Amino acid sequence: MAIKCPKCERIYELLVFDAKGRVCCVCGENLVIEQEDVFERLQEICKQYELKLEEEEKTAQIRKMADSIVAMILNTECGFDEVELEKNKLKLMILEITPDKVHLYELIYEPRFRRLWKKIRESGFK
Ligand SMILES: [Zn+2]
Repeated sequence: MAIKCPKCERIYELLVFDAKGRVCCVCGENLVIEQEDVFERLQEICKQYELKLEEEEKTAQIRKMADSIVAMILNTECGFDEVELEKNKLKLMILEITPDKVHLYELIYEPRFRRLWKKIRESGFK
C-alpha cells in the first residue's frame, strides 16, 4: 500500500510516514494517513516476517533430514529398504510442512540420493 500526493502524484510508501501518520511532500503538500492504515501495514510486515522465519525453520528441518539420509548412504551399512524408508519419511515431511513444494523432492532429493546410492553402493568401492 502506498499514498499518492494529490497535488504532484508522487508516491509515498507507508513506511516513510511518521508516527502520527504524516509526511510532507517535496511539493509542500501535507499528506496524512489514517492510524488504522499504519497499524494494518505494520501488522502485515510483522506477519510476513514471521512467515519467513517459520519457512526458514522448516526448510532447515528438511535439509537436516536430507543430510542424514546422505550420511546414511555414505557412512553406514544400512540396506536399500532402510534408506527407502527414510526417503519416504522425508517426502512425507515435505508434504506435511510445505505441500506446495513437494515436487522439489522428486526434482532435487530423489535424484541426489539415487546418484549417491549408485556411486557408493553399486560401484563396489565400499
Ligand atoms: Zn506532492
